[in-house]
Amino acid sequence: MDIAKVIVDVPVRSTDRTFDYSIPESFKVWIEVGSRVAVPFGHRTVQGFVVSLESGDIRTIKGIKPIQEVLDLVPPLSPELVELADWISERYACRRISALQAMLPTALKGKAERLISLGDAEPEPVNEEETLFPDEEWFPIFLGTGGEEKEIADFVRRGGEVSMRQLTRAFPDGAETIKFMLRRGVLRESQSIKDKMGKKKLKAVDLAMEPESAREALSKLPARSARQKEVLSFLIDMEAVLPMPLKDVLSALQVTAGTVKGLEDKGLIEITEVEVYRDPYRGRDFKPSDPLPLTGEQQAVFDRIIGAVEQQRHEVFLLHGVTGSGKTEIYLQCIQRCVEQGRQAIVLVPEISLTPQMVERFKGRFGSGVAVMHSRLSSGERYDEWRKIREGKASVAVGARSAVFAPFSNLGLIIMDEEHETSYKQEENPRYHARDVAVRRAMLGDAAVILGSATPSLESYYAARSKSDDLFSPVLLEMPSRALGNQLPAVQIVDMREELKEGNRSMFSRALHSAIQSRLERGEQTVLLLNRRGFSTFVMCRSCGYVAGCPECDISLTYHSRSNNLRCHYCGHAEPAPEICPECGSEHIRFFGTGTQRVEEELGKLFPGIRVIRMDVDTTTEKGSHEKLLGQFRDKKADVLLGTQMVAKGLDFPDVTLVGVITADSALNLPDFRAAEKTFQLLTQVAGRAGRHTLPGEVLVQSYTPDHYSIVHASRHDYASFIKDELKHRKALHYPPYCRLILVTVSHEQMPVALRMAENYAMNIQGKARQRRWFGSLDKLTADGLDLLGPVASPLPRLKGRYRFQCMVKWRGAIDAIGLAREVAEELEDSLRDPVLQLSIDVDPQMLM
Ligand code: ADP
Ligand code: ZN
Ligand code: ZN
Repeated sequence: MDIAKVIVDVPVRSTDRTFDYSIPESFKVWIEVGSRVAVPFGHRTVQGFVVSLESGDIRTIKGIKPIQEVLDLVPPLSPELVELADWISERYACRRISALQAMLPTALKGKAERLISLGDAEPEPVNEEETLFPDEEWFPIFLGTGGEEKEIADFVRRGGEVSMRQLTRAFPDGAETIKFMLRRGVLRESQSIKDKMGKKKLKAVDLAMEPESAREALSKLPARSARQKEVLSFLIDMEAVLPMPLKDVLSALQVTAGTVKGLEDKGLIEITEVEVYRDPYRGRDFKPSDPLPLTGEQQAVFDRIIGAVEQQRHEVFLLHGVTGSGKTEIYLQCIQRCVEQGRQAIVLVPEISLTPQMVERFKGRFGSGVAVMHSRLSSGERYDEWRKIREGKASVAVGARSAVFAPFSNLGLIIMDEEHETSYKQEENPRYHARDVAVRRAMLGDAAVILGSATPSLESYYAARSKSDDLFSPVLLEMPSRALGNQLPAVQIVDMREELKEGNRSMFSRALHSAIQSRLERGEQTVLLLNRRGFSTFVMCRSCGYVAGCPECDISLTYHSRSNNLRCHYCGHAEPAPEICPECGSEHIRFFGTGTQRVEEELGKLFPGIRVIRMDVDTTTEKGSHEKLLGQFRDKKADVLLGTQMVAKGLDFPDVTLVGVITADSALNLPDFRAAEKTFQLLTQVAGRAGRHTLPGEVLVQSYTPDHYSIVHASRHDYASFIKDELKHRKALHYPPYCRLILVTVSHEQMPVALRMAENYAMNIQGKARQRRWFGSLDKLTADGLDLLGPVASPLPRLKGRYRFQCMVKWRGAIDAIGLAREVAEELEDSLRDPVLQLSIDVDPQMLM
């Protein structure tokens, strides 16, 4: 192969195509589809990905440039992932380079770096006078800089190639000379792509000789080198585990690095650098676990899935199993079979469910063959986990959304737990949905997919039942009972309107109050859920209705009692909390609604001495804090775990017998067509937290709209009835799964420009759809069709100083609506040529608020 087609990393739309580069002879063995390369582009060197190879006579191609460098010994992407990137770019209307880059850990997002090497010209000859009288300060200046040139040239020669940064650090005053040398061709400059993250190297100590000889040398060390003797004899004793990390030697013996270095200088020991994997779970023990004998329900499901795994056939399963039905055990046993076949498996879990407990279940079964990838790892740790996969040292990857791109070469199974979770959709470019990407990837590689949930998303459930989806129609498998045979907890709905009528103004109903009280008396634990962080801790004036809002984002500010200020959760704007109303001067301005902090305070007042762990975005920003808080709760250091959605997922504590939902309505009233579905999912999830073990569980749901179908059905654990009611609404209002959506957001610093562009967008897309005979309102259309809503101001009309308007495209059928949405956006960008204009296309949006 002589020519590589390369996607380059240049953030301009016109570069969203391949460019041809010739492959120098010496690179031919290294370059494959999926290789990351450095290539010249204009006057720069940029990073690119080889997406195909061709043979041809490069002498006949005018102006073709050679690939400059191959950046990795093993290509970071497989041909399968390159093909997947093409699909992502089409399905989500994004550039191919963004799709390719989304597949790599951030550590590999290379940046250009200037490199200096020796050129053909000779450095100035060294002036003898200068070397003879080196201490005369004025001499070098007087006699020219010959000596410095030689020093610089020697420095570069020793390194072969050094970065500009290294060079200027070594010669802080040498800038002029370096420039002069570059101009004369003594030095040559090139560019290279440098990764953000290196491999981690550790200094390690080893004996430089056989232990016998070392013992002899030890006896010959003079008595005054007592410390050195100590180190050497220690190393001889530890011979079996050498090389040993230097820092372990230092801390074991309380000696300084100088002592160890002294031994190295004597040639008795060696200090080397070894490459280590940063293992975020190092030092933790994982209890090994064996496969459990399956229950009848589990066995039936397992048998159905395992056929596809064994025959290495692409098939998608939607596993609808109530909380505690033992889905995880099925995942584990399917993975085991897959790994026995020499193939690999990916397990996707929502970010916040990726707790040590979760990891333990996989590490306990598959040991160090499990790589874990999630965003709370440092980028170095992520990179190392990723390398473990690519280098074949792991056969199971457990991770959040982006683990769907784990670079396995022979993937046999993808599992997506809690498949209904909205966090599987990436909310920034590329705006992909990991479920759809998983299905597509599995299709390309003849792998099986298991989508598991107690509350499958309407889209997946509908696809399974109607078999009409363009991408997938999963086989529906059901597990309606719990593996341990215990009952789903009883759920009681508390009508908060009644409470108010009877004079109870507290956020705790009498029922919840006494339920918590009895848990305290019995030494059992309670989980309290409050929807959304500080969602309603806004400041309102009771006299005039003024609400404190963010001057930038037009959303209400949230009160933080710790710092006594108001903060914007979108842009970070902060201001002191007002004492009097800025509108009318009234003193009746106060904090409304309930944030987690307020519930915590109230709990303290109602139950003096109660121990509460609060878990929300504020208390879990620090790395590892999430785990720490859960660990404390598990160790019974608290009576109540209070938090937002985070507490609803995946937690499994034996002593939790009460789950209280403070207000079920706050999610119901969000401006989003999925509000009912999300409420149902959340209530079902959180109810599943109670009574998972021997103690029976109780769930109390407080609501101001207790008759809403999502609350009623959730309280009865009745997914089927909920689905029916919800589908009726979706059908009547033409929402997914009865159509698909594309959300187009136009933003600009100037409001009139943003608005005009949004209007143009709407007009152009309608015009083109009409030409293609696609346009019309969806209820009149039976099959193919497109409808457009808007433009309207976005729910966040102003964000970070930009005005935002949006249009919603609704479409269905076999038309290329995504292609059209992209085409219209590109034409608009071309016509305005204003870099401040931003058009974003979100296909199948999940966030509509
Ligand atoms: P899910 O993921 O469906 O919510 P889990 O996999 O967490 O359910 O299982 C719930 C509980 O049942 C766990 O404690 C698990 O160890 C136990 N369990 C699952 N399958 C079996 C089985 N076949 N035999 C005994 N216990 C089981
Ligand atoms: Zn007021
Ligand atoms: Zn703001």
